Amino acid sequence: MRILIADDSAVSRHLLQSIVKKWGYQVITTVDGDQAWEALQQPDAPRMAILDWMMPGLTGLEVCERVRSKGVDPYTYILLLTSRTEKEDVVEGMTAGADDYVLKPFDQQELNVRLRAGRRIIDLQDELLKAQAALRFQATHDALTGVMNRGRISEILANCLAEPGPLGVIMLDLDKFKTVNDTFGHAAGDAVLIATAQRISGALSELDALGRYGGEEFLVVSRRNPKEMQEFAESLRETVATAPVETGALQLSVTASFGVANRNGSGVAHGNFLLKAADDALYQAKKLGRNRVVVDQSLER
Ligand code: GH3
Ligand code: MG
Ligand code: MG
Repeated sequence: MRILIADDSAVSRHLLQSIVKKWGYQVITTVDGDQAWEALQQPDAPRMAILDWMMPGLTGLEVCERVRSKGVDPYTYILLLTSRTEKEDVVEGMTAGADDYVLKPFDQQELNVRLRAGRRIIDLQDELLKAQAALRFQATHDALTGVMNRGRISEILANCLAEPGPLGVIMLDLDKFKTVNDTFGHAAGDAVLIATAQRISGALSELDALGRYGGEEFLVVSRRNPKEMQEFAESLRETVATAPVETGALQLSVTASFGVANRNGSGVAHGNFLLKAADDALYQAKKLGRNRVVVDQSLER
């Protein structure tokens, strides 16, 4: 754990530094409040700080206030160091956002356990942030394939629609997928879905986003122009069909049908039009014999 020490007294600073180091912390020292505030604003700033109350420039209290006004993500645990003993001062320090305080001259054991308490807070927040990130991922991604789920890809489509520029969608659906399940079992079907999602993911650029839209249906949202969209969909079709999916001892050939729809120059008002057009084109692709790309013409006026 890295810890920032801010103290204008060289004697006190060196003493603090050497004992805190001995307890296994990596120490960054600063000689006044301005320097401390500067260090605490860095992207990978230490998560714990021992601030002397009285310093030239910003006081420890003022540094505290600034750190707190910056937000709590990630949290900085602040311990104020003070020779003031009046109760109001302690109240003032904690009100400014300090987590704890230690009176100067400090007792080493007391400082040690107080820092450990701070560490527990930081560790707890880290766990919380990790859990939050995991939940956010779960809420926006498909559990089987790991690509975005329908809610998230729909959100991305809505965001893209709000921006100017080329935009198209590709709706794709695995061909005769039910046969895979019926013949080889659900696990084999799952393996095909995972492999398909991986193959398409691997072919995306920063212009594209992929989501699982339904059971064996995927949606690609692309900021590409109509000509590129058709070529892109064609390349995805090849990527999916190019080699059989190997799962266990099985080799399963996979194809998919693709429906493409582009936002026209004047801009389609609603994403549903685009999705409906892509869906209709996909239906045509199925009717025409599957494993092919059909581009919607109705919106391209
Ligand atoms: P078509 O070429 O017309 O699209 O025929 P299809 O068999 O692919 O289409 P259909 O809609 O008849 O069948 C889709 C199948 O996809 C039925 C469903 O059980 C299967 N499916 C949906 N989600 C999953 C899944 O998560 N895992 C597996 N293994 N199968 C799934
Ligand atoms: Mg299908
Ligand atoms: Mg389907």
